[in-house]
Amino acid sequence: MSFFNSFKNSTNQLVDSLNGYSITIKREDLIHPIVSGNKFRKLKYNFEAYSKMDNPRVISFGGAFSNHLAATAQAGKLFNIPTIGIVRGEEWQDKLEDSTTLTFCRRQGMTLYCVTREVYKEKENSILAQKLLAEDPELQLLPEGGTNVLAIKGCREILAEEDRKYDVICSSIGTGGTLAGIIESALPQQEILGFNALNNFEVQNTISEFTKNLKWALISDYTFGGYAKVNSELIEFMNEFYQQYQIPLDPIYTGKMLFGIFDLIKKQKWTWGRNILVIHTGGLQGVKPMNALLQKKGLLTLNYASELFC
Ligand SMILES: *Cc1c(COP(=O)(O)O)cnc(C)c1O
Repeated sequence: MSFFNSFKNSTNQLVDSLNGYSITIKREDLIHPIVSGNKFRKLKYNFEAYSKMDNPRVISFGGAFSNHLAATAQAGKLFNIPTIGIVRGEEWQDKLEDSTTLTFCRRQGMTLYCVTREVYKEKENSILAQKLLAEDPELQLLPEGGTNVLAIKGCREILAEEDRKYDVICSSIGTGGTLAGIIESALPQQEILGFNALNNFEVQNTISEFTKNLKWALISDYTFGGYAKVNSELIEFMNEFYQQYQIPLDPIYTGKMLFGIFDLIKKQKWTWGRNILVIHTGGLQGVKPMNALLQKKGLLTLNYASELFC
C-alpha cells in the first residue's frame, strides 16, 4: 500500500462553546508528524503521479520555515525521488543549521539553493530554476506551496461524511490551494472562511482559478504583519490554547486563525453560523525554528515545543 493510502482520516475534537458558538478542531495535524495536515493532502496525488514516472526528480520553492519544503523533502525520501528546494533568502546558505526546517530537508536528501528575495520572487522563471529545468528533462516542477490541480484534488478529501453537520468551516490561507479544495467539497449551505496568514492580496485570484464557487469569505485582519511575523500576544494566546485544550498550534498559520476566531467571537463580531469546524492544517515542524528566532530576540517563546515529535 502506498504511503498516502496507509493513513486514516483525521478525528474531530470539540474544544469549546464560546458565547454559544461551538468550536471543533479537525486534527489533520495528527496524520503524520512532517507530511502533516494540508501538505499530506496536497502532495498525495502529486507524488502518486511522480511514482509512476520512470526516473522523476522534483523541484519546489519555500521559505526557511516552509512546511511545504519539509513535507516535500520527506515525501521524496519515502518515495525515493530526489528533490531540490529553492529557498527564499540567500543568507541561509551559510547557516542552514540555524533552521531546523532546512537542516531536516537536507537530512532527507533535498538539495537546497538559497537565493535572494528578488530571484525567489521569479520562482520557476528565475535563471537558476530555468537552468536546472533545462539541464534535467525529468525534473518535475511543483509550484510554491504545492498548489496545483492535483493538490486541490487532494484537499477535496479533507472534509468527510461527519463534517456535513457543521455550519461554518474555517481554514488558514497561504497560497489558497487548501481553501479552494475545501470550497469545492463543502455542502452548498456551509459557509467557508479563509484566514489569511500573510499579506498576499492576490490570493483571491488564485482561489478563483481553482474554484468557480463564490460562497466563501476572506478574513485578512489577523496576519500579524505578514508571513512568519508574530507578536507576544499571539504567542501568549497559543500557549494558553495548548494549556487549556492540549492542542498545539503552529505560529505561522493555525495560531493566527484561532486567535482570529476567538477574537471575533469575544468581540461579538462573529456574523456566521454557530457550529464551527476549524481545520488544523498541521505545520507543527515550524514551532522549533520559530522558538529559536524568538529566543535569539529575547522574546516570549512557545512552551510546548519539547512535547512535539518534530
Ligand atoms: C501551507 C500551510 C497552509 C496554507 O496552505 P495553502 O494551500 O498554501 O493556502 C495552512 N496551514 C498550514 C499549517 C500550512 O503548512
